[in-house]
Amino acid sequence: MDKVIGILNGMEYTIGDSILELSYLIAALLFVYGLKLLSHPATARTGNLWAAGGMGLGMLTTLLLHKDAGGNGIPLTNVWIILAAIGVGSAIGWIIARKVKMTAMPQLVSIYNATGGAASMLVALLEYPNAVAGDIQSILVTVLGLIIGAIAFSGSMIAFAKLDGRVGDIMKPFMTYINLVLLIVTIGIGVYIIISPNQPSEMVWAIYALLVISLVYGVMFVMPIGGADMPVVISLLNSLTGIAAAMAGFIYNNQAMILGGILVGAAGMILTMLMCKAMNRSLINVIVGAFGGGGAAGATGVEGSIKEIQLSDAAVLLSYSQKVVVIPGYGLAVAQAQHIAHELDALLESKGVEVKYAIHPVAGRMPGHMNVLLAEADVPYEQLVEMDDINPDMPNVDVAIVIGANDVVNPAAYDDPSSPIYGMPIIDAHLAKNIIIMKRGMGKGYAGIENFLFFNDKTRMLFGDAKASISKLVSEIKSM
Ligand code: NDP
Repeated sequence: MDKVIGILNGMEYTIGDSILELSYLIAALLFVYGLKLLSHPATARTGNLWAAGGMGLGMLTTLLLHKDAGGNGIPLTNVWIILAAIGVGSAIGWIIARKVKMTAMPQLVSIYNATGGAASMLVALLEYPNAVAGDIQSILVTVLGLIIGAIAFSGSMIAFAKLDGRVGDIMKPFMTYINLVLLIVTIGIGVYIIISPNQPSEMVWAIYALLVISLVYGVMFVMPIGGADMPVVISLLNSLTGIAAAMAGFIYNNQAMILGGILVGAAGMILTMLMCKAMNRSLINVIVGAFGGGGAAGATGVEGSIKEIQLSDAAVLLSYSQKVVVIPGYGLAVAQAQHIAHELDALLESKGVEVKYAIHPVAGRMPGHMNVLLAEADVPYEQLVEMDDINPDMPNVDVAIVIGANDVVNPAAYDDPSSPIYGMPIIDAHLAKNIIIMKRGMGKGYAGIENFLFFNDKTRMLFGDAKASISKLVSEIKSM
């Protein structure tokens, strides 16, 4: 039934092969369409489903139609093992995705990056002995897949541990040199394996040496990067995972894997560059700069004092304002205060106050964190204004309410050249006529530094959990 319809590269080509290739093309188109829909919060969920559909199609047709070099399909036992693995993996993924808190999403993304890197690394490790000496092209993609996959795996595990607070930043100036040496050794072993005239089956020791050194490099590469730079690193590791998957696709000559991997790699790299731009840093500077680590210096000699505001005063100030800008940050996500924040903005708008949300590109703990949270609370998308668009209007704002944000409004980024966040663009809350800051106490933000804004003459603090404080504020305004 699987009729031979031609010969390609000396191998018979059947209808089944054509259907398989066509399904990969359709899968690739679905990935691209899904990615397009992912670019807007309103369509992102559907986009995810289209892309997952593409992946499902690719998996199904591979299981049914893939053949080895001898023209044999996947043995039935293997099909059952693969189905069982897919079942177990899907169940684990489903449970984790249901249980994970929004604030722990970056950790989850890091784990997913790690598994993607590990998968590509294992493919390269298993397939290397089957390569043929002198076939530079296939050995090159295998070596690249192994190096990039291993770095993405161990680097992402460290990123997970750091984001989860299990590991701190370890930065010593000599680490930059160690990393440089590790990188040179990794490339050296890789080149040796590629150009060696020996059969790969005799060079297994070298591929394991490459594996170990790449894993160590991944750890050492992420270890010193700290504080405010983690978003860039997560995005970079994500991009590496995609490139490693593309390499695995080249090993198997699988179009869907190559295309899917390249899409992830390219999207991750674009996001990395956008993040660098948003933080006013170059990628090289992020990788070797070890910027914004916990407990960093900065904000020495802060002038001014901390002043608190009573709920009733805050209620009056907000109700009689014309323009209010809410600046959400990580604390809003921790407190899950997005719904009550929307209640507050709707209440103020019903009193004729114009309310906007100012969105900083790295607010929270993952790219787009604030957009996702506020969309979940049904805050209209038009009410969210990007940092560059809102900043010119900040001097006209009557009240800036900072809810659980810290680093993204810290004027040390402008004023203190010794600060680890110096040069990072911020939301100009300090230019508003009045500033109300909602946080639980004097806790520091992710970069671990003091915030000049808290000591500003125009600033008043409303201490407490963000959700509880806003609830009380809403009741107070309603009772006015
Ligand atoms: P920050 O981490 O700077 O500050 C959050 C503040 O929220 C803390 O100072 C804390 O103060 C307060 N807070 C915590 N819990 C609550 C609560 N329940 N109620 C009220 N306040 C609370 O947040 P930002 O959003 O301003 O900045 C994000 C930082 O994270 C940046 O440095 C960024 O680079 C980094 N980052 C961003 C990632 C991303 O992709 N967006 C990924 C990884 C890191 P207190 O304890 O006193 O309440």
